[in-house]
Amino acid sequence: MKLYSVKMRASKNNSHISGAEKIIGKPALAAAVTAMTKRALEHSLGEADFINLKIEAAAKEDITVLPALPVSSCKSDTVDGSIKVIEAKLRELDISDPQKIISLLQNCCHMRGAILYDIYTGTRMEPDPIRGVRVTYMDSCLDTQSIINKNHFYEALVLATKVAHAPGMVAELCISDDPNYTTGYLASLKHGYLRLAPVKKYGSSHGGRIFIFDSSKTSVGRLIDYLEKAKILVSGIDTSYFPKQSVTEYAQCSLAQLKKQQLYRTMTVIDTPQNKNITVQQKPLLLFSSNDYLDLANHPDVKQAAAAAALAWGAGTGGSRLTTGTNGLNTLLETKLAEFKGTEAALLFNTGYTANLGVISALADKDTVIFSDEYNHASIIDGCRLSKGTTVIYKHNDMADLEAKIKNTAFSKGIIVSDSVFSMDGDIVNLPAITALAKKYTLFTIIDEAHATGVIGQTGRGAVEYYGHTCHPDLIVGTLSKALGSEGGFVCGSRLIIDYLANKARSFIFSTSQNPAAIGAALKSLELITASCEPVRSLQHNVSYFKQALSGAGIKTTGETAVIPVIIGNEQTALQIAAELYAAGFMVSAIRYPTVPEKTARLRIALMSSHTEQELQNLAGSIKKAFLKHGLLS
Ligand code: PMP
Repeated sequence: MKLYSVKMRASKNNSHISGAEKIIGKPALAAAVTAMTKRALEHSLGEADFINLKIEAAAKEDITVLPALPVSSCKSDTVDGSIKVIEAKLRELDISDPQKIISLLQNCCHMRGAILYDIYTGTRMEPDPIRGVRVTYMDSCLDTQSIINKNHFYEALVLATKVAHAPGMVAELCISDDPNYTTGYLASLKHGYLRLAPVKKYGSSHGGRIFIFDSSKTSVGRLIDYLEKAKILVSGIDTSYFPKQSVTEYAQCSLAQLKKQQLYRTMTVIDTPQNKNITVQQKPLLLFSSNDYLDLANHPDVKQAAAAAALAWGAGTGGSRLTTGTNGLNTLLETKLAEFKGTEAALLFNTGYTANLGVISALADKDTVIFSDEYNHASIIDGCRLSKGTTVIYKHNDMADLEAKIKNTAFSKGIIVSDSVFSMDGDIVNLPAITALAKKYTLFTIIDEAHATGVIGQTGRGAVEYYGHTCHPDLIVGTLSKALGSEGGFVCGSRLIIDYLANKARSFIFSTSQNPAAIGAALKSLELITASCEPVRSLQHNVSYFKQALSGAGIKTTGETAVIPVIIGNEQTALQIAAELYAAGFMVSAIRYPTVPEKTARLRIALMSSHTEQELQNLAGSIKKAFLKHGLLS
C-alpha cells in the first residue's frame, strides 16, 4: 500500500497553536487530513487562522521502524516532587547541571520546536532559538484511525521514541505549554518514557521540549538532519497507557451537570390506565400531557380488539417483516392506513421514531441535501444524522428562508422534511408553500403527521385534508401511538417508494415486527375514527375553546392544534409552575432544553377530546394564578 506523510502546522495571529504528523496509507489519507484540519480549527488555544498541510508520498524503503520506548509513570504530590525525580534521573545520565536544563524549560513559552542543549559545551545549539528544532516525519504502526484526534500521550511517545534514537541524544525533557495539561515526561534509551505529574502548575503556559545531546558523539548537523528528515514508524506502543476515563465516571459527571442545569429528568409512575382522569400515588389528577388526543388508548372497543388480536395471532411475531413477521393483520393495517391518508401504499414500522430514522437514512444518500425545519422532532434530526446526506436547517416554518437556502445550495437530490404539526409548538406546517417549492426546485417532500393524524383536517386525516386536498407531500410519516391510542409507526406514499423503503430502510428490515395486540388496537382505532368524526370534532372544539380561555386570562399561545405551548422561558420557573399546577390537580408537562431551544422552557398542554369546557376553564384559571404569582402577568 502506498504510504503518505502528512504534516499539519496551525497558527493563530502568527503564534503556533497546533501541529500533527502522520505516515498513513492511501485509504485513510483523506480522513486524516479532515481530522487534522478540524483539530486546527477547534484547538483549545483558539481557532487557527493559518493551517499549513503538507502531503508527500513516502517510499517504504526510506522508513525505519523503531520499537516504542517502554513507558512508566511517576506521580508526585507536588511540582517540586516531580522536579526532584527529573534531577535525579538526569544525574544518572551523567548530566552535571540538571537544574540549569530544567529552568531553561520553565522559562520557555510557546516555542514551536525544541531547545537543543549540548552537555559537552553547556550551550544551546538550535540554529533558530525562536523556532527551535523541529521533529518531523514520524508516526506509529498502530491503526490510528480511532485515535486520530488529539491524544497528547500517544503523539509524545512517538516523538520521544524517534528523538531517543537520534545520534548523540542523551535525553529529552518535556513540560507541555498547554495551560490545561500538567503531565510531562523524561525520555531516554536508558530510562524509557517516564510520565511525570504534575510538572507545572495548572494554568501556566510555560514549558516546551528540550533535547539534551552530546556534541562529542555527533555533529549538530547530523543530529538535526535525523530529527527533521528521517522517516520513522514506531511499533509496539502499549495502548494501556492511553489516558482513560471510566464510562461510569463520565455518566456520573454528565448527570451532575444536568442536575445543576435543572435539566435532570425523572419518570412519574401513573397508577391508572391512560385516561383524562389518572392517579399518581393515589393523588387524582386531570391529565393535560398525554398524546392520546382522542381517548382511544383506554377505549373499551380498542382494548377488546387488542386482546382479540393477541388471542388470535399470539403475543409476538417471531421475526422481522421480511422473515416471519408479516401476517394478515399488519398487511390489513397497511391497506387501511393508505386508504385513510389517500396514498397508494403504506408500511408499518415499530415506532414513529424508527420510521423517521429508517425513511430519511434510506432516502438520503451522500449526494442528497435534506432541508429540515429547525423545530423538527428529534426523530427527524436523528434520521438526518444517520443518513449520509447533508442537512440544511431552515428557520421554523419560514418559507422565504427555505427558498433562499434551496437556491443557495448545490444539490443533485433534495428532500424537504417537516413536522406536520410541530410537536412542541402545536403550529401547522405551511404545506402548500412547501409542496410548491418542491415542485419548483425538484425536491422530495416528507411530513411527519405524528400530531396531525386524528387531530387536524375535518375528519382527522391530517395536513392534506386541512389544506383542502390542494397539496400533497411525497411521503407521510405517522405514528399509531398518539391519537390512534396504540403503538407503532407508519409511512404512506407511492407504491414505488414503499417498496424501496421495505428493501432499504434498516429500522424496518432489522427489527422484529410489531406485536399483534398493537396492530389490532390500531385497526380498531382507525375504524372508530373513520366511522364517526365526533371525537375529532370535539377535540377541535376543545382547542379553540381553550385558546380563547387562555387569551381571556391574558396568556398568549401560538398553538393551533391539540398541542398548546405556554412559553415561560426560564427552566426553573417552568418546573415550579408545573409543580404548582400538579398540586392544584393538573398534570401538565414542563418541557425544557434540549427538547426545545434553551430559554424557551414551556408548559406543553395536550388536549383530549374528552376534556370538558369546565375543565379547560379551570386549567386556564390555574395557569393565570401561577403566572401572576411568578410575575409573568401583571
Ligand atoms: N414524530 C413526532 C413529531 C413526534 O412527536 C414523535 C413522538 N413524540 C415521534 C415522531 C415518534 O413517534 P413514536 O412515539 O411512535 O416513536
